[in-house]
Amino acid sequence: MKLGIVGLPNVGKSTLFNAITKAGAESANYPFCTIEPNVGVVSVPDHRLDVLYQMYNSEKKVPAVIEFYDIAGLVRGASQGEGLGNKFLSHIREVVAIVHVVRCFEDDNIVHVEGSVGPLRDIETINLELIFSDLEMIERRLQKTNKLVKSDKSYQLEFDLLQRVKDTLESGKSIRGLDLTKEEKEIVKDFNLLSYKPIIYVANVSEDDLLENGANNEMVQQVREHAKSENAEVVVICAKIESEIAELDDAEKVEFLQDLGLEESGLDLLIKAGYSLLNLMSFLTAGPKEVRAWTIRIGTKAPQAAGKIHSDIERGFIRAETISFDELVAAGSIAAAKEKGLVRLEGKEYIVQDGDVILFRFNV
Ligand code: GDP
Repeated sequence: MKLGIVGLPNVGKSTLFNAITKAGAESANYPFCTIEPNVGVVSVPDHRLDVLYQMYNSEKKVPAVIEFYDIAGLVRGASQGEGLGNKFLSHIREVVAIVHVVRCFEDDNIVHVEGSVGPLRDIETINLELIFSDLEMIERRLQKTNKLVKSDKSYQLEFDLLQRVKDTLESGKSIRGLDLTKEEKEIVKDFNLLSYKPIIYVANVSEDDLLENGANNEMVQQVREHAKSENAEVVVICAKIESEIAELDDAEKVEFLQDLGLEESGLDLLIKAGYSLLNLMSFLTAGPKEVRAWTIRIGTKAPQAAGKIHSDIERGFIRAETISFDELVAAGSIAAAKEKGLVRLEGKEYIVQDGDVILFRFNV
């Protein structure tokens, strides 16, 4: 799962991305992730893994991961093909969600491309590029659908929807804020619009604002206000502090955060926001060889969850021996839990719950 980091120049993208790569998960554990210079892979923090690691006296601990894709270089005029703009826009098409870094710190030494710090203007600048790019695509699709609908009325819904999408884009608004029915949402998803991708605004504030002003200033409030209109999430970070945290090991990190009076790092908050925005959750597998967290969408059924591990397990699915993490911890061990009859045998229709510890039985 890849999230794309965008933002105007000099807002703190590289600083954040460097923190991500430094904090990066051990790539040896993730042969399935393509490691490119502009991709950073980070672990999803999950204390349950530590508990299971102890309980099973396991050899290895493998957290779930999120990939961040650094899409630097998006500037005003990108959709008109200025610079390498169009290439960046096509990169955004590949990601499941956008992380838009917005500068919310003043610093006279750091030039702002637009001459002054202005989060709302910056948000609009980037969003307009996405909107222009979408508009071009929608117009092409509208022409095609216009022909089809004349001979086949089943295209009417799509045609009307395309028209509505076009009107919205032409008024300079993202499709994210559009009120859609469930059916319409499915169709719009298929358009793969940049301005419909879920978005997290990262408000990059100064050290002082993060530590002394409760991660708030007028600029952050503006970002929050705007995000509401788009059903978007906001995470406040100080990229500079993140890059310092990334240098530390786990124990030092806890101490450093405590010293600063922070509960969590900005990066951890960002990962959590990504999880919640994308309706994700984790189930767990545990054994003496490894304990591991797997990412699935909320509402995923047992066989499809098994498919995350291997397509053979999904194909040959028989049942899922399941216990919630809390019940397992209360029982003390899987053997004790089995004795008490706490391990359930779930079938194909079972909807996996966050924190389920599962052993899949399957035919080979
Ligand atoms: P990018 O062009 O968006 O990748 O921006 P950079 O990450 O290169 O940051 C531009 C400048 O802003 C650099 O000099 C950073 O050190 C500085 N910077 C980034 N984040 C912060 C921050 O949180 N606080 C302060 N004071 N400076 C920052």
